[in-house]
Amino acid sequence: MSTLEIRDLHVSVETETGPKEILRGVNLTVKSGETHAIMGPNGSGKSTLAYSIAGHPKYQVTGGSVTLDGEDVLSKTVDERARAGLFLAMQYPVEVAGVSVANFLRTAKGAVDGQAPNLRKWVKEVNGALDQMGMDADFAQRNVNEGFSGGEKKRHEIVQLELLDPKFAILDETDSGLDIDALKVVSDGVNRFHAKGDKGVLLITHYTRILRYITPDHVHVFVDGRVAEEGGPELAEKLESEGYASYVKAGASS
Ligand code: ADP
Ligand code: MG
Ligand code: MG
Repeated sequence: MSTLEIRDLHVSVETETGPKEILRGVNLTVKSGETHAIMGPNGSGKSTLAYSIAGHPKYQVTGGSVTLDGEDVLSKTVDERARAGLFLAMQYPVEVAGVSVANFLRTAKGAVDGQAPNLRKWVKEVNGALDQMGMDADFAQRNVNEGFSGGEKKRHEIVQLELLDPKFAILDETDSGLDIDALKVVSDGVNRFHAKGDKGVLLITHYTRILRYITPDHVHVFVDGRVAEEGGPELAEKLESEGYASYVKAGASS
């Protein structure tokens, strides 16, 4: 049983006119076995939250804490965060010139486990993971993110999730740009991960449609840099019909 705890997290980014506070006191606790959905309008700070937990250097934590089983996450390097059991798809480079998917996955697995995986076993595992995502084994020979379609990028994220087997997965806009078939395949992948047991999922999304395939235990409405409301799956249904208008005060998000 593990707990990822975010307490009163404040995060700023540097802008031309000085630092701008994006996260304004985020509180959120995810326990292993739970799936949480963070939903909110564009620009509310959802990706900033994901990047901050991932340790992206652009985001300056000015207050609060993130802990994993009581241990400070924010003082860890990106690699240490991965070794501690956090999976953040965006912690990996957007495009890795000349690095094949196969080599990339093996390096990532080695970094997480502290030793390179046995090659033979690993090739089987990779092929199995690709197959489950409806991808050909040839995909492993392509260069990471080079010419990937939106759907291939997202499927590749889930392949990583499957193979790296973290404790907590933070998935940002995993559903964006997916057609209905890809959405189902990706959702199935997230559900498979969850079904392993003792896995925490933080699913960040703007749309409610992925929640038809992945049922969250908790839904958090994220507005203007903090959690504005929390509830169960029924809250997603309310958002589906009513949108975010009632949460966004006039002038609140500048
Ligand atoms: P979301 O993922 O919910 O759409 P983001 O976390 O991407 O929101 O962005 C939150 C807010 O932070 C937006 O208003 C965005 O314009 C602002 N922001 C993010 N990065 C920067 C930056 N480098 N400079 C200025 N503003 C930024
Ligand atoms: Mg505060
Ligand atoms: Mg975003």
